[in-house]
Amino acid sequence: MREELTNELANETTGRSANEHRIQAVIMAGGKGTRLAALTKDEIPKPMVMVAGKPLLLWQVESLREIGFTDIIMVVGHLGGKIREYFGNGDRFGVNIQYFVEDTPLGTAGSFYYLKDMLTEDTFVMMSGDLFFDIDFSRMLRFHKEKGSAATLFVHPNGHPFDSDLLAMEEDGRILKFDSKHNKRDYWYDNCVNAGIFVFDKKICDLVPEPVKKNLENDVLREMIEAGEPVYGYRSPEYVKDVGTVDRINQTLADIERGFISKKCLREKQSCIFLDRDGTLNKYKGLIYKEEDFELEDDAVEAVGRINRSGYLGIVVTNQPVVARGLCSIEEVENIHRKMATLLGQKGVFLDDVLFCPHHPDKGYPEENPAYKIPCECRKPKIGMIEKAAQKYNIDLSASWMIGDTTIDIQTGINAGMHTALVMTGEAGKDGKYDVKPELVCESLSEAINKILSMDERRTEEK
Ligand SMILES: [Zn+2]
Repeated sequence: MREELTNELANETTGRSANEHRIQAVIMAGGKGTRLAALTKDEIPKPMVMVAGKPLLLWQVESLREIGFTDIIMVVGHLGGKIREYFGNGDRFGVNIQYFVEDTPLGTAGSFYYLKDMLTEDTFVMMSGDLFFDIDFSRMLRFHKEKGSAATLFVHPNGHPFDSDLLAMEEDGRILKFDSKHNKRDYWYDNCVNAGIFVFDKKICDLVPEPVKKNLENDVLREMIEAGEPVYGYRSPEYVKDVGTVDRINQTLADIERGFISKKCLREKQSCIFLDRDGTLNKYKGLIYKEEDFELEDDAVEAVGRINRSGYLGIVVTNQPVVARGLCSIEEVENIHRKMATLLGQKGVFLDDVLFCPHHPDKGYPEENPAYKIPCECRKPKIGMIEKAAQKYNIDLSASWMIGDTTIDIQTGINAGMHTALVMTGEAGKDGKYDVKPELVCESLSEAINKILSMDERRTEEK
């Protein structure tokens, strides 16, 4: 399945199988763009706003063409004539464009009723016209196929989860429910937002049997989830930004300028800072199995924020034998991780992923959970979690770091061929398990991050 899809995409890129298995891309370009009135003056439609000398929609079209998605359907409405005037049938831009014109606004999904007849394949991608993105679609399509998903949403953390609509997902990405920003959130939540890019099976169109206004999340996707249909979130650190305000356009311009956007695309090798949890990111209190015992280190927010802005991925890898010991369940560990995401999210920072090993090899504790009392490949200093992350995010381990407060973390980093930094918080390297020498020894996590980033800066200057 995986190879077949990759070949398909490769062939499309080279134009060899131009008429077979084409992925059609639907761009929802009907937005009114009131928030961009200062730039559009209500004379050009929002997706035609200029970003670095080109209309936003042209950035999208070029990005789709580059990966071989040359069959494009644009759903246009307000001022849509300007879009048709500019793009025509797409010839001039090396693509084939069809239009669907909404005479009356149909919301984010009402047009599915008409799209059904324009779609030629079983699977299509869809995106909102006010996004700036650079993503490896082949990974997302592969995920969609491997999961047997009917609808896959590109999801990512954002800088303000507390006032955003969020998604609650299972560990494998299956979406359990939409968590509206209007809900009173008296629970810990994951920072997981719908970015506006989708892979759908064509049969989703059957859910709109009449040409009436429909909302994609609230009507169509919610109905699918409630009916038990497989709806998945594809979590990715790639750059997808809604540029629906003047401020956001300016941020995107700055990100283009510093090469940040293409660097984050998973076609490119990524660098990652792997972080231990207890004693590194949060205060050391022995085994933590109750969420009330989880408390961030004082500099955790600052440190994670610097990672977020640096271009490094930030991923936690932690041994949690509390499950094997029978002190708590997998669900309770996940709840502790939601607390971690909530506390970081309240300050506008986030982790790209969290992996944990629930196992422990030694039997003989009174309340142990035998299912997890097994030798495994993920318990640090083994590198199962690191390898899993490396595959998922295309990580170059030789350009990555492991930071932790124990010799186990340092040994893990060495085993995986990474750079290593020991922090003097938590156990401060006094666990004595391995005789290892870290590359850096730092007082705190934020000092470690600062040192790593300034070493990189020096290296760039020397080049
Ligand atoms: Zn394990």
